[in-house]
Formats: sequence, C-alpha cells, structure tokens
Amino acid sequence: MKKVVKFGGSSLASAEQFEKVGAIIRSDASRRFVVPSAPGKRNKKDTKVTDMLYDCYATAEAGEDFSAKLNAIRARYQEIIDGLGLSLSLDAEFDIIRKEFAAKAGRDYAASRGEYLNGIVMAAYLGYEFIDAATVIRFNEEGHFLPELTNELLGKRLENVDSAVIPGFYGAREDGTVVTFSRGGSDITGSIVARAIRADMYENWTDVSGFLVADPRIVENPEVIETITYRELRELSYMGAGVLHEDAIFPVRKEGIPINIKNTNRPEDPGTLIVESTCRKPRFTITGIAGKKNFASVTIEKDMMNSEIGFGRKVLTAFEENALSFEHVPSGIDTMTVFVDQHAFEEKEQNVISALHRLVEPDSVEVDSDLALIAIVGRGMRSTRGTAGRIFSALAHARVNVRMIDQGSSELNVIVGVDNADFETAIRAIYDIFVTTNI
Ligand code: ASP
Repeated sequence: MKKVVKFGGSSLASAEQFEKVGAIIRSDASRRFVVPSAPGKRNKKDTKVTDMLYDCYATAEAGEDFSAKLNAIRARYQEIIDGLGLSLSLDAEFDIIRKEFAAKAGRDYAASRGEYLNGIVMAAYLGYEFIDAATVIRFNEEGHFLPELTNELLGKRLENVDSAVIPGFYGAREDGTVVTFSRGGSDITGSIVARAIRADMYENWTDVSGFLVADPRIVENPEVIETITYRELRELSYMGAGVLHEDAIFPVRKEGIPINIKNTNRPEDPGTLIVESTCRKPRFTITGIAGKKNFASVTIEKDMMNSEIGFGRKVLTAFEENALSFEHVPSGIDTMTVFVDQHAFEEKEQNVISALHRLVEPDSVEVDSDLALIAIVGRGMRSTRGTAGRIFSALAHARVNVRMIDQGSSELNVIVGVDNADFETAIRAIYDIFVTTNI
C-alpha cells in the first residue's frame, strides 16, 4: 500500500499541529509520501505565511527595507522548529532567500518559499528524504504546467524512494525558474505525486471533516458527503464548493486513484471519499447543493429562430467577440437565453447587444440581472423518479420564484436560476426536502 498525504496550511500552522500530523503519519506505514503546504493561520486573526511572503516580496520589489518582514516569517518557522525540539537551522536558507529577494527573483519564487521551508522542517521532523519540487514538477516557458513530462520525471525520481517529503504549490521551468500553481495549489501537487507513484489513495488532510452537502453559512450543521464521484465534485466545485482546488482532480483521475478528504483535528472521522465510480448508494437522492450569485441573463427572441441554421453559434459569437464566457444557454422555440457573469458583462453589455443585432437580427433582446444559479447535484437522481418535482414543489412552498431550469445533459444535475434575494431560502428549501425530511 502506498498513500500520498497532503496537509493544508492550518494543519501545519504550529508545532502543536505538526505533532498531530506526525501522529497521523506514524499511525499508518503506507503514508510514505508527504506534501505539505506553507504554515497557515494559527487563529482567525493570524496571517498565512504565503501572504506574508507576498507582502515581504512586494516591499523588496519596491526597493524598500524588507528585513523586518522577512524576520517575522523566519520567526514562524523557528517557533515550529523549537516547539518540535528539532536541531535544524534555516540560517543558510534564509541567507539565500534574502539575497534572492534583493535581486528580485520573482513573486512565484517568493511565495514558493513557504512550502519549500515547511518541506525541509517536515522532512527533518519525520526523518524522510526531502525532494525539492523545483526538480520534479515542470512548467513550460509560458508558465503552463506540463503534466506528462512531470509524471515521467517524478515517477523516475521516486522509483526507489521509500518515503519522501515533496513541498506543494510550485515547480519550475527547465532553467530552474520557480513557477507556482494558483492559490491553494498544494492540492494539485498531492494529486500529481499520487499519480506518479500510482498510489492506492490520495489523502488530503485539512481542517474540515470532508465536503458538506450544502454551505454551512447557509444551512445550519449540514451533513457530510460520504462518497462523491469526480464528476459530481466537478459540478459542485465549479459552482463554488471549496475545500479542494478544482484542478486537483485531474491527475488522480487519470489513474482512478481515490481521494480521501480528512480532518487533521478529528482523524477518526471518515471524511469524504472521492471516487471514479461507485455502486454504493448515496445516503440521499442528492449528493450536494452549491450555487453562485450575480449572473445576468440575455434573452434573444426571434420568430422561427429554430429553423435558422447557425443561429446559436452566431449568438454565442457575440459573447466570444467580447471575451465573455457563458454559463448556461437554456432555449425555447423562439428564444434563447445566455447566462453570464454579471460583473464581467456589465462593462460590455452594449457591445454585446449591438453585436447580437449585427449577427442575428433579433426581434428583441432583453437583459435581466441579479440572478443566482443553484446546482443540485447527485448521481442518485438518474434512477430516482420525481426529483425535479420535489425540487420545484420545495421551492414553491418556500415562495421562491424559479426563473430558469436546466437539467444537465449528464443527468447528474439540475440547475435552477432564482433571484439573488431568494438564493439562501432556495438552498435551505432544497436541503430540507432531500436531507432533513428525506422523504
Ligand atoms: N500556500 C499556498 C496558498 O496559501 C498554497 C496552498 O496552501 O495550497 O495558497
């Protein structure tokens, strides 16, 4: 058995947290490859080391004195090292970092030092080999991640390694210039390592006991999702459900490796298991609900539009010309509606409207705003009759007016559009009918 274990920033924020992580790793001999984030917040008011690094580097880049800021970062590591009773010294590392900052080595380099240093501390603490991610995770000249080359390099490098710590969040170009993933990117590194060693499991340790059926800021004490498929998760994360970086699914998905989301502070909780496919019946018909506010809709009406070849393409061209991506396109007999992000659309709306007139000569174009989209996701929906009926009767009882309905072609989700003002009420009503009452 081989497991890759990734620990997020809050799991590594202090020596005390490190000790919990150490106990977790030591309790299972298959936890052989460890991917740490940078130290996160120790309490609500604290600052993540990554943010301290960005800030410190901005000072260096402006040519100002950054030594106090760098010393504060150093103190964060020293506190961990002392708390763990390690004899490790990071003096030489900080000398290099100071020089590189002064020489303006780049924002990505700066941010990556959070994971790099934490990797060194973690390796010393566990007695595992340290492997610098810059030597095994490869980006191209434009800064795009190279999955296949990385998989080859990493696979070879880890072939005869028994146990190792590989810092998350960054890699490098061929010339060694450091490049980072987007924020939260250590999740991606964990997935890349799991793929390269064909791990049996990718455990992603964080500070919650898995994915929740709904956002806890909206629904009180929502249930944890026990098992979810990659595809369901894609739908939910796209709609804003956090916890795992969206792109972290792709590497493990290639090898069908499951991801287990676990809680460092409650290791006995089973967490959420993310799998390719499962015959396990979901506990509820729906797996999860997620949504986003602030969409605008543009409805184009034209008699006989259905018989006009290329109509849909031309409508979407009007959006493409203005560099706007669309979310959903429900259509009727003589109408087609395009949902777009309201913020991005606002600045360009008149250009889009005139482009529509030029491209499709519509009878009318109508714009609506302040809409929210809610995705109700679940593999159980495919085999259950009446799901849509339950959703809409729940919404009707809660006096929510449904502005749009779209059943995804995967039969994995139903998307409803409601007014922004009804967003929370709608989510609570759907949660109640499927989970609380579960009738
Ligand atoms: N430390 C980085 C961040 O704060 C990456 C990560 O934690 O995954 O975004």
